[in-house]
Amino acid sequence: MAKIFCIANQKGGVGKTTTTVNLAAGLAKVGQRVLMVDLDPQGNATMGSGVDKRQMALSVYDVLLESASVAEAAVYSEKCGYHVLGANRELAGAEVELVEVERREKRLKTALAEVLDSYDFVLIDCPPSLSMLTLNGLCAAHGVIVPMQCEYFALEGLTDLVNTIKQVHANLNKDLAIIGLLRVMFDPRITLQQQVSDQLKAHFGDKVFDTVIPRNVRLAEAPSYGLPGVIFDPSARGSQAFVAFASEMVARIGKF
Ligand code: ADP
Ligand code: MG
Repeated sequence: MAKIFCIANQKGGVGKTTTTVNLAAGLAKVGQRVLMVDLDPQGNATMGSGVDKRQMALSVYDVLLESASVAEAAVYSEKCGYHVLGANRELAGAEVELVEVERREKRLKTALAEVLDSYDFVLIDCPPSLSMLTLNGLCAAHGVIVPMQCEYFALEGLTDLVNTIKQVHANLNKDLAIIGLLRVMFDPRITLQQQVSDQLKAHFGDKVFDTVIPRNVRLAEAPSYGLPGVIFDPSARGSQAFVAFASEMVARIGKF
């Protein structure tokens, strides 16, 4: 049975998509069966997994509107080694179209239930907002992975997300838990980043993942080749960190 994780943070540009595609590729590398779900109409995780968002016959939009199943809409990325349920601009319309329908926040959960035996991990890349799309992700998930940069306002932004997760936990999905905070784009030479990192550990204890993802230009270059860094340049420090993170996730699942 697959474990389902949302990669969420309502801030943009914090490394959600980079985390999603590289964790997916890292998990595939260590032998896990992975489905990556793109819930962001920008479709960056789709493109960054080697799937052209403009050429898709079916997408997560069709799944949310119940005109296609996950099995029908997902495609296998040969290069990346995982399945992709892609997104494109069409998905922006789902936000409005879902307003009228019943159990609108549980559409993704219901659809994923049919494929849980086919995967070990389902990773959901969330948009940078606490919208109906993100809510669908949070309702479907067993846990949330929060990528964050160790900057001054990082902790402040976290409060809103933690409160949303608490509300979803209380009202819609009692399985939901924060699995962990992942420090990304980390530069140990910057004193402030060290300080924020220490604060995070003091506050959140073992909810902070041991693995730290360094700032690494190869991770930023990879999307323009339609690949996760882990596939594009396996020897890069950032790629190695994501493979280590994949192993940490597999180990945590045992305890989870
Ligand atoms: P989000 O999905 O939260 O908006 P992205 O994953 O798209 O964030 O990352 C924002 C930008 O930062 C992208 O240009 C990405 O390539 C870059 N980036 C992300 N993680 C790293 C890293 N560890 N080192 C260098 N650049 C990174
Ligand atoms: Mg993104």
